Amino acid sequence: MKSACRHNVTWDGSTGVVACASCGAVEWWSDGRPLDAAEGMARLFGRFELVSTMPSLHAPAPNVLAYRAPTRRTRTRLEAFPIRQWLLVSDGLWLTHDGTMLLLCPTDPVLASNMGNGVETSPQEVGTR
Ligand SMILES: [Zn+2]
Repeated sequence: MKSACRHNVTWDGSTGVVACASCGAVEWWSDGRPLDAAEGMARLFGRFELVSTMPSLHAPAPNVLAYRAPTRRTRTRLEAFPIRQWLLVSDGLWLTHDGTMLLLCPTDPVLASNMGNGVETSPQEVGTR
């Protein structure tokens, strides 16, 4: 089936993203070249702050991680993605947003564990000096 959707790239500086609400395609671009999804995510959302983990209702995995944008300007990066529609952005990782918060849903248990650990303090800091 040939899709009739148009894939417009939304640019934030030199980082471009396509997130298609019709067919679910996600593409990352950097100055006209395809960009690795992990790198694209890091560029757009690397400074977002994990604020809560919640059970999901209609998400692809049991838990959803909510991230807050550090500034009003970075929050506009969310607008490149369709609101309240889960898209698979990279292996094992789904993304959406509610207009305010970045919502990530890892279906990969290892990834989920790594991401969830971000809110907790590390027990390895226990020690004597
Ligand atoms: Zn499409």
